[in-house]
Amino acid sequence: MMSKEDIKTDEEWKKELNSDEYEVCRMKGTERAFTGMYWDCKEKGVYKCRGCGIELFSSDTKFDSGTGWPSFFKPENDDFIEYIEDKSFGMVRVEVNCKKCGTHLGHVFDDGPNPTKLRYCINSLSLKLDTD
Ligand code: FE
Repeated sequence: MMSKEDIKTDEEWKKELNSDEYEVCRMKGTERAFTGMYWDCKEKGVYKCRGCGIELFSSDTKFDSGTGWPSFFKPENDDFIEYIEDKSFGMVRVEVNCKKCGTHLGHVFDDGPNPTKLRYCINSLSLKLDTD
């Protein structure tokens, strides 16, 4: 079985993603708040992984967090999400990645709304919206 690192080489990712996408998806960067394509998007549809196209979040679980990043209270399928403790920048946070291709998505926090109380704070650059 292929490990997720084998899905694409670094050279292939660099060809496929523009430099902003590469910085977020592969280098775990964060887009500036209120600059992404989806933070204020209210269209219905499925948010897919920018790296591999797997369905990650539904617009039905998107909410206005006021943070400037697209925010969801749960993933479409939790099996597709990889959770990693992130101690960078002097904080302890939980990083979320696509389990299939390793694309960095964002972080999950426990200050979200009902029914889960979770807030998946995701970079627009890691997503691709498929509208219904
Ligand atoms: Fe992916």
